[in-house]
Amino acid sequence: MTQSALRGADHAHFNRRLRERWLALREEIRDTLLRADAESYADVSHAEVCDKSIDRERLEAYPTAKRCLPCQQLHERTRPQMQGPTL
Ligand SMILES: [Zn+2]
Repeated sequence: MTQSALRGADHAHFNRRLRERWLALREEIRDTLLRADAESYADVSHAEVCDKSIDRERLEAYPTAKRCLPCQQLHERTRPQMQGPTL
């Protein structure tokens, strides 16, 4: 493979990863908006796994968070390797 073909392959890979991230983020935002329409803020702030309340600071920094911080940290330690950190 020539140097420029290699760069093209890297670029295509990068674009594919970026598109996957974008689609996943769009899905998270859509889910959050649907939950926010259907429920009150208090319900939206309930963590999906443990049903505790997600810290307000966490939701302000990451409005689509579905897990409280301890559950997210556990999830990231135990899930198969995926793209980048999501905290
Ligand atoms: Zn939790």
